[in-house]
Amino acid sequence: MERIDKIISSALNISRNDARAFIKRGAVIVNSACVKSIGEKIDEKSSEIFCNGERVVYQKYVYIMMNKPKGIISASQGAGEKTVVDILPAQMKRKNLFPAGRLDKETTGFMLITDDGEFAHNILSPKNHVPKTYIAKLDKPFSNEMIDAFKRGVKLKEDECMPALLEPAGKGYLTARVTIKQGMYHQIKRMFAAFSITVTELERIKIGDLCLDEKLLPGECRYITPDELDMIKKDK
Ligand code: URA
Repeated sequence: MERIDKIISSALNISRNDARAFIKRGAVIVNSACVKSIGEKIDEKSSEIFCNGERVVYQKYVYIMMNKPKGIISASQGAGEKTVVDILPAQMKRKNLFPAGRLDKETTGFMLITDDGEFAHNILSPKNHVPKTYIAKLDKPFSNEMIDAFKRGVKLKEDECMPALLEPAGKGYLTARVTIKQGMYHQIKRMFAAFSITVTELERIKIGDLCLDEKLLPGECRYITPDELDMIKKDK
């Protein structure tokens, strides 16, 4: 159950006051009855809602896949710097959106943006083992010994990494596919740095079982479908 003024303001991306004005004007109809009170609670899943004669589609939470471009920070507020939330198209913007997890400013690829805090917590918590897969370009080739070391868990100065999967993603071991289940600060760069290798480019291509949509150009985004959401959540 959700308040009707909240539903209208969220679905139409308008202020709570503007939503209340529609209700007071008698422009909001729920299951064929005119809503009289701005605080009326309705079942948002089963109710048919119209505002000004237009069907209202309400989603409690949204889940957006963005192909993050370089030079944009993964935060909701950037103190002068452009954020992934700033570059969302106007029709996708709504209150409380934030990136679920961090990518460095120069890292590209799959950024999940949502307003569902519990979902974000669940996919980010290492306890839940949601794998994140990256393609890393390297200044020097990695070795087979490193594949074993990643599998055992790389020891960094202050941190110990959980087992990770390191695979070649091209000829010559200069491009690596890395799958990790944590999201520590600069984790992948630090894991390679432990072997004196510099990551020159990094792209996240997958979260859980869901791949970045190849049709999305850098900076573009689209909604994640409920089936795709299950592909992210599935416990490994
Ligand atoms: N690891 C990094 O080093 N950087 C990222 O952006 C993500 C993972």
